[in-house]
Amino acid sequence: MKAVRFHQHGGPDVLRYEDAPDPDPGPGEVLVKVRACALNHLDLWARRGLPGLKTPMPHVSGSDVAGEVVSSNATEVGIGRRVMLQPGVSCGRCEACLSGKDNECASYEVLGYLHHDGGCAEYVKVPVQNLLSIPDAIDFVTAAAFPLTFLTAWHMLMTCARLKRGEQVLVLAAGSGVGQAAIQVAALHGARVFATAGSDDKLERARSLGAVEVIHHHRQDIAQEIKRLTNRRGVDVVIEHVGEATWAKSVRSLARGGRLVTCGATTGAHGAINLNALFGKRLTIHGSYMGTKSELIRAARYLFAGQLKPVIDRTFPLHEAADAHRRLEESEQFGKIVLEVS
Ligand SMILES: [Zn+2]
Repeated sequence: MKAVRFHQHGGPDVLRYEDAPDPDPGPGEVLVKVRACALNHLDLWARRGLPGLKTPMPHVSGSDVAGEVVSSNATEVGIGRRVMLQPGVSCGRCEACLSGKDNECASYEVLGYLHHDGGCAEYVKVPVQNLLSIPDAIDFVTAAAFPLTFLTAWHMLMTCARLKRGEQVLVLAAGSGVGQAAIQVAALHGARVFATAGSDDKLERARSLGAVEVIHHHRQDIAQEIKRLTNRRGVDVVIEHVGEATWAKSVRSLARGGRLVTCGATTGAHGAINLNALFGKRLTIHGSYMGTKSELIRAARYLFAGQLKPVIDRTFPLHEAADAHRRLEESEQFGKIVLEVS
């Protein structure tokens, strides 16, 4: 098959569009013909490499996949079935998995990251429990753009923050994959959403997704604006993944009893916190990574009904994966960048 692989860590130039062996599905696994694969920041981390994590080489990244089942070692899986893939791979038999917290499984990994080759290729193999059927009305690009970011946003808002109707939510970086998903999930559940972005165009698009107020994070101070917009009260929930650059402002934006949920540290991993504020304002900080299979099944119902809709920034053919990585790396996008596989 053709695949986009890297043989060493580095910049987008290490990505090679080349021949690779077809995946060989084991017991309980299925082979999926990839039709679309969306990029995430995880693809950039996988390509660059992280200290302490050893990726077997060569490697195929790509966690967000939609396509068709072409062969199956599991029973009762229709060949030709249109599917999107659960990006989280877990053992299915440990205490965490059996209590519905499969993203806390000790062997949890994300498709396309570390030991599981991903979907930036013509074919990918996955455990049968990672298939999620998609209706004919949902095209492959839309389906591929959905799972990882909407699962992440759903888990952060609904499970970690236990969002309630009428609460106020600050979503950082509206143009990011998680940002555009979090605005929609929060608005869908009756929250008043504030969003930040770095350009007027992105702010306008954040409004169109459901943000009631928007903040230009280069021209305005996020925490000051939140205080002004909420009559000095602050927000109930902050959805954060920017990291060092915004951490202190995120904490200062919280109301009493506020919850800060973070799923990333794009600009750096160190954030200080004033402990007097932490206990004095009864704040809670949640670390969040991905979400559970059942959460994705629930969120997908809203996709299928047209109530959640991933924003597609643009598509690239598979062989232009390096250009797609560059666009994501430079934060030029609003929404998801998707590779199409013919
Ligand atoms: Zn497990």
